[in-house]
Amino acid sequence: MIAQRSFILLIAFISGYLILFAISSIREKEQRATRVSLVGCLLLLCASVLLLLFVSIPVIFWILTFSIIILITLFLMPLGTNTPVQIIGEKTRYDERDIMFARAHYTPGSDAYDDYYERHPDKAKIDREIRAMPELMQSGGRHYEPTDAARARANFNLTEQLTLFCNGQPALQKAAAEPDEIGLELKKMAILSGAVDARIAALDHQHLYSHIGRRLAEYGTAIELAHTHALVYAVEMDYTAMQHAPYMPVMVESSKQYLKAAAIGVALASHIRLLGYNARVHMDGNYLMPLPAIASDAGLGEVGRIGYLIHPRYGARIRLGAVTTDMPLATDSSILFGVQDFCRICLKCATHCPAGAISFSEEKEVRGVRKWSTNQEACYRYWRTIGTDCGICLRVCPFSKPTNMAHSVIRMFIRRNAISRQIAVWGDKLLYD
Ligand code: SF4
Ligand code: SF4
Repeated sequence: MIAQRSFILLIAFISGYLILFAISSIREKEQRATRVSLVGCLLLLCASVLLLLFVSIPVIFWILTFSIIILITLFLMPLGTNTPVQIIGEKTRYDERDIMFARAHYTPGSDAYDDYYERHPDKAKIDREIRAMPELMQSGGRHYEPTDAARARANFNLTEQLTLFCNGQPALQKAAAEPDEIGLELKKMAILSGAVDARIAALDHQHLYSHIGRRLAEYGTAIELAHTHALVYAVEMDYTAMQHAPYMPVMVESSKQYLKAAAIGVALASHIRLLGYNARVHMDGNYLMPLPAIASDAGLGEVGRIGYLIHPRYGARIRLGAVTTDMPLATDSSILFGVQDFCRICLKCATHCPAGAISFSEEKEVRGVRKWSTNQEACYRYWRTIGTDCGICLRVCPFSKPTNMAHSVIRMFIRRNAISRQIAVWGDKLLYD
């Protein structure tokens, strides 16, 4: 009897989860996932009834024991490693003059143009072709829609206004600041201002760009920053809005979150300066470094195949902001939750990228670090073709699912166990492809 009751309890538990998953899939408008989880639940219940009716108690006992061993092995045993990103050479700084957002705005005849293409004649043709395409959020892009484009442009215009506050003078008097307490206070302030997560890293100066490229007035200036710490935070991109990728609502959502990240940074930096320390905001249009690597150091997540940071709760569905400072702050540790290992077997972003910009191959050395690199020319050319910032890779990434219990359970399994990661990749294909 105990074996039968335990068996019924186990089946009730698994069926309960499948029903919960089906309900969450209905909410997410994922019809295939709803159908598969309901059919799976039905099959499980039918098979269990048949077993209870026609199979002897000792056999039920062994099926139960075997199922429990499998479940424990899959979901609780820490099997396999969670590999960190490997440093395999001397880390060198990236030049902001090389990024597409900078190159797209070098106009013929300008000093920036002459300097850049003299040093990189191989880039001249592709950049010329890209510059000849319609600008993002302007008519001519395949997915241009005037109302949403205007909303997105309004948000970007406001963000640009905020870049005026990236720098500022600190108060003359330094307030006494205990690194633990003030670090905690700043992180709380970021969360209360709308960030979903905030953490602190020691500033590795190899993460800084070597030269300014995007702000043309300062083009070519070598970047030096005498700051020691970075407070890095994430804002969430709305799940429903992201389902519209690659259409214009995604660009509206990106612009909204860039603006939010910028406003949070301005408030944090202003607070730090009032305490007598230097602070610099890194926001859209005015970064001194790409943020995924420093966010990874701070423990906000891991950098995946797409080159973006993947957060343990929100996946790639985030935008980052950062404030660097010379204020002494207690730092957080980096985290590992299986992203590198999962990305090696997943490849979903690469399969779905319409531009073929995401690598299918293994990680390679990029400026001293073993990682995946994306083809920024192909990605940005596609953006200019459609007129939006695409976002398909962010949308399809299995880590980007909503933060409800149905998905959180799966994230927990992926974190702990290499076999679960294989099953999750297979399950994602079955449910969503
Ligand atoms: S944003 Fe679009 S084009 Fe760019 S890498 Fe992602 S899926 Fe590919
Ligand atoms: S879609 Fe898959 S391979 Fe791409 S970043 Fe997400 S988990 Fe990694």
